Amino acid sequence: MKRRNFIKKASITGVGFAVGSVLVNCEEKYKKKLEESSVANATDGNGKGSIPLVVATWHVIDATAKAMEILQAGGSSLDAVEQGCMVEEADEKGQSVGKGGLPDREGNVTLDACIMDKNGNCGSVVYLQNITHAVSVARKVMEETPHVMLAGKGAEQFAIEQGFQPENLLTETSKEAWEKWKVESEYKPIINIENHDTIGMLAIDINGDISGACTTSGLAYKMAGRVGDSPIIGSGLFVDNEIGGCVATGLGEEVVKTVGSFLVVELMRQGKSPQEACKEAIRRIVNKPNSNYKNFQVGYIAVNKQGETGSYSIHQWFSMTKFQDGVNEQIQSDYFNKA
Ligand code: ASP
Repeated sequence: MKRRNFIKKASITGVGFAVGSVLVNCEEKYKKKLEESSVANATDGNGKGSIPLVVATWHVIDATAKAMEILQAGGSSLDAVEQGCMVEEADEKGQSVGKGGLPDREGNVTLDACIMDKNGNCGSVVYLQNITHAVSVARKVMEETPHVMLAGKGAEQFAIEQGFQPENLLTETSKEAWEKWKVESEYKPIINIENHDTIGMLAIDINGDISGACTTSGLAYKMAGRVGDSPIIGSGLFVDNEIGGCVATGLGEEVVKTVGSFLVVELMRQGKSPQEACKEAIRRIVNKPNSNYKNFQVGYIAVNKQGETGSYSIHQWFSMTKFQDGVNEQIQSDYFNKA
């Protein structure tokens, strides 16, 4: 790490404090699944370990396994995060990413994704329809166009020109769930933890280079046209190859308002560990005047150049999957709201 990138520790504190009152709705079966899984380091999340290394939001061991397979074969962190995310995008059972994602309130599945490489190049797609592998389209935007972000029809047209096959992303299961939701059409700002499973992934390859990617169908039953944090560089994802990387999940609006992933990387630049940086970025959200954080979840995961990792969320039951030193495991995140 070059010294010029080390800015002196500044005083970085949130101001104000407000408390909401509604509990986050968290499915019992999800809690059980997490309790039964190999949960480690609940209060720490750190690990000084070897590279290569891959971490991802939530419980996605097949995705991290795919990414590690590439890293161990000497592949780049960029290939690893793309192909790791593709595993989840192709899985129709996952209702928050790629094919099978839950639709917006009009019944349209719209995907957001982005990717960032070791040189600070990035690509992003927002409101992409009919294409499963949004993360790969984002990579094409990065590599094949002079732009960073393509949206909607233009993104879809570009994808088709690049050889992606259009297909219907609304599976029967997700359609049924949407039709059931439509009966009451009630959209609450309360986030059900099972509905925010954006896959954010960070990898360090054997050369020590860091890349990251993020892919999601966004919040279930969102307003038509709504875009979250996940495709926004600096919010849903940020990588600085000299410092580290961060990805976010949860209520995207809150991540965007605090430029969350960029904040985490900058805090690491100032000397914080990935764990401390994630914690501070969550504090920025919950300490905002009139924050109603009790109604929503946000979680961050981060890695630094040394291969240390961290994760932190507002509420319990956020987790990170980490593959490092031959162990591919789910790690329960430490969290703010212990009241
Ligand atoms: N962050 C995503 C969004 O706001 C949702 C999620 O993480 O599930 O679109």
